[in-house]
Amino acid sequence: MKEGILVINAGSSSIKFSLYVGNGDDKPVLKSKGQVEGINVAPHFIAQGVDGTVLAEQRWPADSNLLHQDLLKHLIDWVEDHLDGARLVAAGHRVVHGGPRWSAPARITDELLDELESFVPLAPLHQPHNLAPIRALSRIHPDLTQVACFDTAFHRTNPKVAETFALPRELTDEGVRRYGFHGLSYEYIARRLKEIAPDKAAGKVVVCHLGSGASMCAIDSGRSVASTMGFTALDGLPMGTRTGALDAGVVLYLLQQKGMNAAEIETLLYKKSGLLGVSGISNDMRVLLDSTDAHAAEAVDLFCYRIRRELGSLAGAMGGLDAVVFTAGIGERSAPVRGKVCNGAGWLGIELDDSANAANAEVITAPTSRVPVFVIPTDEEMMIAKHTRAVLLS
Ligand code: ADP
Repeated sequence: MKEGILVINAGSSSIKFSLYVGNGDDKPVLKSKGQVEGINVAPHFIAQGVDGTVLAEQRWPADSNLLHQDLLKHLIDWVEDHLDGARLVAAGHRVVHGGPRWSAPARITDELLDELESFVPLAPLHQPHNLAPIRALSRIHPDLTQVACFDTAFHRTNPKVAETFALPRELTDEGVRRYGFHGLSYEYIARRLKEIAPDKAAGKVVVCHLGSGASMCAIDSGRSVASTMGFTALDGLPMGTRTGALDAGVVLYLLQQKGMNAAEIETLLYKKSGLLGVSGISNDMRVLLDSTDAHAAEAVDLFCYRIRRELGSLAGAMGGLDAVVFTAGIGERSAPVRGKVCNGAGWLGIELDDSANAANAEVITAPTSRVPVFVIPTDEEMMIAKHTRAVLLS
């Protein structure tokens, strides 16, 4: 009988799902996907086929008071009715934080859930929302195998020097260190690059995951050795609404001179900064690229400048560079952003092919370029489906 694997990626206001059906091999096939969004506001459920056809849709009024758990039940009921003869064998969840120990996905148990709960202070904006559907699903479906796939796990191969802040040792020992995120995306890209260009994948690669959250990762011989995100997903590149790396002295200034409290600073750093803060217009790269406003151009320039600097930094961490990969919303689709990054990186051996870049081709550098640059679409959900199946078989 065919196996159905449900992949869940839950955030504060939405639960995204993808349903895969497997034939017993390592190649689950996507059957449908969708989401419940507007949770706690006016929930909206939509399910789509692989070609984007709407298979089901439902809206609830703003005063419906539906809980996360009720909406998840609606989603599961829909999935169970659309398994096409397959049997639901497992659910795989994206969990942002696996702490210092977890370097691979893990089967959910009560003990693991308690451990993951203890990481909530490390990722307060994401972890609770990742864990809520796991708890709800174990009530709805106590016998279903659930698997947690961590965004931090792929980076656990980082050497200690890459993980350590120059803080007093006691703080490092209690877990104040660099963890790195977007690991499921980097792992997927590392596998895809091995298929596309195995010689490059065996070398020193920088992957730029540029979505509404953005980070970069140095991958040496297929293993993560450094990344731009650190203790939280706030570090590194400026993002849609997040600052990226910031002199910690700015936070002291906001506290001491501006009298801001922790919650206000959190909102400023996570929700009001980045592309939105600098442009004053939008967090959406498409809007900024289309705008004639000087502040929009400044935001785009800052984003690209920081990527170029980090490219040099990550190549420095590896002691070389053999390939670069762009991925995620902006990385896969924005030729202007890739152009601004690559045109300043000639010293690293990157020679852009403008027409290949404009066409979002798989390789966007000239044949003479010492370092090729690839555009590879990421697929974190597929990675979770594969991991979930592997844990199921283990
Ligand atoms: P998330 O990080 O939320 O998963 P994505 O990886 O889908 O998001 O990236 C979303 C971002 O990609 C959007 O904020 C948008 O700015 C950007 N984006 C999507 N398409 C384009 C495009 N054609 N050109 C520039 N930016 C784009």
